[in-house]
Amino acid sequence: MSDLSELYQALILDHKQHPRHFGALADANRKADGYNPFCGDRFTVYVDVENGEIEDIGVEGEGCAISTASASMMAEEVLGKSVEEAEERFEQFRRMMADTADDADYEALGDLEAFAGVRRYPTRIKCANLAWHTLHAALTNQETAVSTEA
Ligand code: ZN
Repeated sequence: MSDLSELYQALILDHKQHPRHFGALADANRKADGYNPFCGDRFTVYVDVENGEIEDIGVEGEGCAISTASASMMAEEVLGKSVEEAEERFEQFRRMMADTADDADYEALGDLEAFAGVRRYPTRIKCANLAWHTLHAALTNQETAVSTEA
């Protein structure tokens, strides 16, 4: 168990130091802003949805190690997936952070289980959830579509 938690800590650190898919997306057709006032984490999630699939994703902003690593791993996880699958993963991640996830949830979450350890620090749960909530907002609020000039 401690080996696994060391592995997960290394994974979170790697994503914090080298966030994947960071940067604004010029051709995004969905966008949402996320802010966690408890920590000061602030991210904008840009998504390019084509034919119901997440063809490209970009994250812009700054936050603590947990929120940054979570945003990076979220982007990596949902890129190329259908909106439906991404929304399902959002629900599964949320259940994991609320400690109500079942075995099937954990199986689908894979390495995202790295954030389960964050539950020991209740104030940081919002940090882990932020990027996922922002993705959800981007995918469900079509009126927040970003202009191509943005
Ligand atoms: Zn944070």
